[in-house]
Amino acid sequence: MAFSIRTKLTFWYVTLLTVSLFAFAGAFSYSLAKIFVYRTDNQISSVANMMAHTVIKPSGQLFLPRDFDLILGRFFGVRTAGNYIQVLDPHGDVVAKSSNLESFTLPITKDTYLSALGGATSYEVVRKVGRYPVRVVTMPIFHHDKGLVAIVQVGSSLEGMDEIFHSLAYIFVILMVASVVIASAVGWFLARKALKPVSEITNTARRIGAENLNERINIAVPQDEIGKLASTINEMIMRLEKSFRQIQQFTADASHELKTPLTILKGEMEIALRSKDDVEFMKETLRSSLEEIDRMNYIVKNLLDLAKMDMESGALPKEIVKLDKVLADRFEQLRRLALDSGIRMAILRSKPLIVCGDPVRLSQLLFNLMDNALKYTPKGGEVELTLDDEDGKAVFRVRDSGVGISKEDLPYIFDRFYRVDKVRSSKVGGAGLGLSICKEIAESHGGTLDVQSTLGSGSTFTARLPLADTSANI
Ligand code: ADP
Repeated sequence: MAFSIRTKLTFWYVTLLTVSLFAFAGAFSYSLAKIFVYRTDNQISSVANMMAHTVIKPSGQLFLPRDFDLILGRFFGVRTAGNYIQVLDPHGDVVAKSSNLESFTLPITKDTYLSALGGATSYEVVRKVGRYPVRVVTMPIFHHDKGLVAIVQVGSSLEGMDEIFHSLAYIFVILMVASVVIASAVGWFLARKALKPVSEITNTARRIGAENLNERINIAVPQDEIGKLASTINEMIMRLEKSFRQIQQFTADASHELKTPLTILKGEMEIALRSKDDVEFMKETLRSSLEEIDRMNYIVKNLLDLAKMDMESGALPKEIVKLDKVLADRFEQLRRLALDSGIRMAILRSKPLIVCGDPVRLSQLLFNLMDNALKYTPKGGEVELTLDDEDGKAVFRVRDSGVGISKEDLPYIFDRFYRVDKVRSSKVGGAGLGLSICKEIAESHGGTLDVQSTLGSGSTFTARLPLADTSANI
């Protein structure tokens, strides 16, 4: 059965308290009993000592009048009161005893008797003398000539101790029951207080959905464990909110981008339909429509690429890719375009470098960067390409002398659908997806893509990719 943390906390708290109370009661009772017995032993041994000097005559004969109590009273007065006194002959037979023993005698075990014969004094607790246990000292009496003449036993009832222990046990039981009840209630309350922030976190987390991702958990004490948990959850919600907004933005942008060519297409078709037999006009409309379809095709292809890369992250093909070879191929493809646009494009340096990854994507990365450089560089400008290794990375740079990018636009150019100049960009066929695809490709290969640009004087895009460990078996 699963118990709540609150129940468990209370249970452990109460259990710990009960165990502590038991330990305390045990230690307290033990110490008290020790003190009590020590004091009793002192008292009975002093009586026994006095007896040892009284009941023996200098000749070594025992002095035991018939009225034993009388002599006890005369010599010891009240000090004997409450003590059981008994004198035994050297054979262990009782020769005199105090009247308070009535029909009882203080028992003497074989061990105690043998110890007395050996001259040792023994202490023990005996029962069966009245209702209460009795602490007894057994002391041998020796005469310098006659040897052992008698054994004196003095006992003191432990009635007082027994009563104290009964009362103590009673008090302890009441105290323990009361403490456990109070501790359970206090523990239950304290556990609730301590766990209240957790309930708040649960409630807030339960409330948060797509429509209120801006909500946050209130943090009363940020430094404690719960405060740290709450701020971690808050950070997580913040990240969720950010990616959720990005998805929303992306969907809105994608729909917008696709809607524009569709609207244009529809308009053109309607006009064409109304133009009756003007074949030239119809041809022109079809040409323009094809351009819009190409544009839509381009957008959809890029969107699919991005979606695919999002899904594939971490599961890229790992192939040996000769970057210098890819660069040479892509350069060949774009050389014609550069010539037609009146731009000088050249490879300044191309080191033979190998990276590990997806050849199609890496080729797309190089192509997009070169294509952009050509798109955003006016006639007469130049595009320079270098492929080098720096700090264990393959570094591909595309420097152009084109239009450049303003400081304000620079932080956003890698965002999906971001275009600096929408009119110009759409004229050159862009939809603001090329650079985000490039960045995604670089990062999914463990690399980076940066840009440095000055408005009006050109840009440099730098892709850094980790070099392949050619010794590894890929
Ligand atoms: P697009 O497909 O519109 O070119 P990109 O994502 O490739 O989209 O580029 C985003 C924006 O960055 C472009 O609209 C363009 O304004 C700017 N840009 C990209 N490359 C260059 C460059 N080499 N020189 C100047 N501006 C550039």
